[in-house]
Amino acid sequence: MLPGDVGGGLLLARPAWHARAACRGVGADQFFVEKFGDLRPARALCSACPVRDECAAQGDEEEAGMWGGLTAGERRKARTDARRARRARAAPAA
Ligand code: SF4
Repeated sequence: MLPGDVGGGLLLARPAWHARAACRGVGADQFFVEKFGDLRPARALCSACPVRDECAAQGDEEEAGMWGGLTAGERRKARTDARRARRARAAPAA
């Protein structure tokens, strides 16, 4: 999520990819909704965004908001799934 406010703070230097974001110029309130709020407009923007991967990487550890098309809960689940997959690959074969 952009466009300037991140976690209640202001970005001091925007990454170059911000210029290509589908949500450029869209209010941050679309991406930081109350519990059970409507995220469909944000999801629609994110689904067609050319910098979705960059956004997801930047927002991976953020506690709130939609980043790269994922909510905080979805990001937590993705991290857990990735950790489990890494452990399964590292485990010696029986
Ligand atoms: S993925 Fe979504 S929140 Fe991130 S830059 Fe693109 S439109 Fe904005």
